[in-house]
Amino acid sequence: MNESASYRIGADGQSITCLICSLTSYNPNDVREVYCGNCHRFHRVSQEAAYARNVNLLSDAGEALYGRHWIPQFSEAIGLPYREINAMARGRRPIPAYLWIDIRRLIRDRQRELSAVAREIRAEINRDD
Ligand SMILES: [Zn+2]
Repeated sequence: MNESASYRIGADGQSITCLICSLTSYNPNDVREVYCGNCHRFHRVSQEAAYARNVNLLSDAGEALYGRHWIPQFSEAIGLPYREINAMARGRRPIPAYLWIDIRRLIRDRQRELSAVAREIRAEINRDD
């Protein structure tokens, strides 16, 4: 999950392109306020909303992997200090994009482990004694 900006500022800083409707504005007010007059939308607000979603997704992933008190095991598995993960989970530190790759890998590893255990359980249930 890359930084999900919904706009792009021109290289010269004089224009703003809305990535939702593709409109480019050269209105200095639009550039300063990060606003799209076509969508009637302030992009910064939607970026904050995206950031809140990221924080929730981090907690969802952490809890799915390690339960309610997920941060110690998660930080060990990810290889980052507890305090850094804790700050990310509380929205006090940005979540780096590369972390999502590692999180997806952890989830897939866990899926494989659980599938293997489920197969063994099924074999045990179906075993004829
Ligand atoms: Zn727009």
